[in-house]
Amino acid sequence: AKARGRNCYQFFNQEIQIEAERTAKIHFHLKKAIHQGELQLYYQPIVEPKSGKIVKAEALLRWRYNDEFIPPDEFIPIAEQSGLIVEIGAWVRKQAVITAIELQQKNITMPISINVSTLEFWSSELQHNFIQFFDDILQELDIDVFPYKLITLEITESLLMKQKNEVNELLSMLRKRGIRISIDDFGTGYSSLSYLVNFPVDQVKIDKSFIQQLETDKRHKALIEAIVSISKALDLNVIAEGVETEAQLAFINQQNIPFVQGYYFYRPMPKNEFISLLSDS
Ligand code: C2E
Ligand code: CA
Ligand code: CA
Ligand code: CA
Repeated sequence: AKARGRNCYQFFNQEIQIEAERTAKIHFHLKKAIHQGELQLYYQPIVEPKSGKIVKAEALLRWRYNDEFIPPDEFIPIAEQSGLIVEIGAWVRKQAVITAIELQQKNITMPISINVSTLEFWSSELQHNFIQFFDDILQELDIDVFPYKLITLEITESLLMKQKNEVNELLSMLRKRGIRISIDDFGTGYSSLSYLVNFPVDQVKIDKSFIQQLETDKRHKALIEAIVSISKALDLNVIAEGVETEAQLAFINQQNIPFVQGYYFYRPMPKNEFISLLSDS
């Protein structure tokens, strides 16, 4: 038994080592990814489930390194740990704003949601300059009116847990400009329903983990019902994420959830595909 225990330990050590090497490798290559044009922003349409009409979209980051797509769930945490997320986040916001403006110039009004990681908010430069950031793009792009109303920031509950007054103030300032605030992955973290009352938010996104288990586990249905009912009472928008099947859609419709995002309708797609999809419809 002793020998086996030792093998296990060695095996475990090896796993950690392999993982650490992969993390280091990703970090090393990610540093250069922006400048080498390896990052791309994809767009996933968000639809009204009953009509199937595209009403908004979420911008989702893609990194192609050689012939491999490294999933954001793998490289975003590494970007957060290393601080690279600040530069990456700025790039993402700028690309998303450019796309919103491009569409506007084609007379297509398409609000775009941008994921903002909590660490990005707290990086010392950004905390004070998040507003300034949008002013800077405005100048850089040489446009007269910034389409604040077309921008939604998707934040997670972890942002709402610390320095509540500062966060509240920042979110209020952004909202005064017309930017909308959405709580992402709602219900998966250390949720507190009081967040919905105490912070200036416009929208709640039901995480795909709930949607994907609703057919097999009644409790997930109950949870979704509860989120929908409180959101309605507080006059918040609701988006269901990760809808893949007819049965999931039927439940969404039965709940009168107004917005849906999922493979049932569309997968995330490159910008040019997204623009031509919108131009054709
Ligand atoms: P998220 O914000 O919860 O984004 C939704 C994820 O669900 C996306 O994964 C999307 O492709 C996926 N999805 C949408 N519909 C379906 C469906 O019907 N079935 C399934 N199985 N998946 C669906 P993705 O693009 O891999 O992104 C993963 C996570 O990485 C995001 O989760 C977000 O937390 C993070 N992320 C992505 N882009 C950015 C970014 O630009 N900045 C930051 N900070 N985080 C990002
Ligand atoms: Ca999101
Ligand atoms: Ca997320
Ligand atoms: Ca999610």
